[in-house]
Amino acid sequence: MTTCPTCDIITSKQGLLYEDAKIAAFLSPAPLSVGHILVAPKQHVPILEQVPDYIINELWVKANKLSIALFESIGAEGTNIVIANGPAAGQVLPHAMLNVVARKQNDGLQLQWQPKKLGDEEMAKMEELLKGACGAIGEFQSEPQKPIEIKAPVELPEKTESGESYLLKQLRRLP
Ligand SMILES: [Zn+2]
Repeated sequence: MTTCPTCDIITSKQGLLYEDAKIAAFLSPAPLSVGHILVAPKQHVPILEQVPDYIINELWVKANKLSIALFESIGAEGTNIVIANGPAAGQVLPHAMLNVVARKQNDGLQLQWQPKKLGDEEMAKMEELLKGACGAIGEFQSEPQKPIEIKAPVELPEKTESGESYLLKQLRRLP
């Protein structure tokens, strides 16, 4: 047991629907609907901001595929893919994750939001502030490359009867 219930589920492997080297998925212990899946990085990362880009990529790709699985296996008619990022947004567990919530028509789940009316001045100010902060978001943090494996030197093939290496003979035949 750790202080992170998500890490405990991932390391116990109990009830995992999917896992690979980086990502694990399992049914939410506190589901919003029948078919509410949590998709999390295996590495303990408290908030989304700390999750490397290449893991974010994996999370979204897997969330989409899990969503497809909900459509195909339990007859979901829609899904909400939701992240509660930070306590102010409703994050309660200290481990970044995506929620894939299966939906059906008229299932009564209230996830709709009511748009606010903002004034032109306020919108313009927000746009200006955000534009400044968005300058560098085109960068992508790739997975660190593993050190190049140094292989043992290739053994030369047996010499031919003429005493010449088979490999050299092959090379000489090339145009
Ligand atoms: Zn954790």
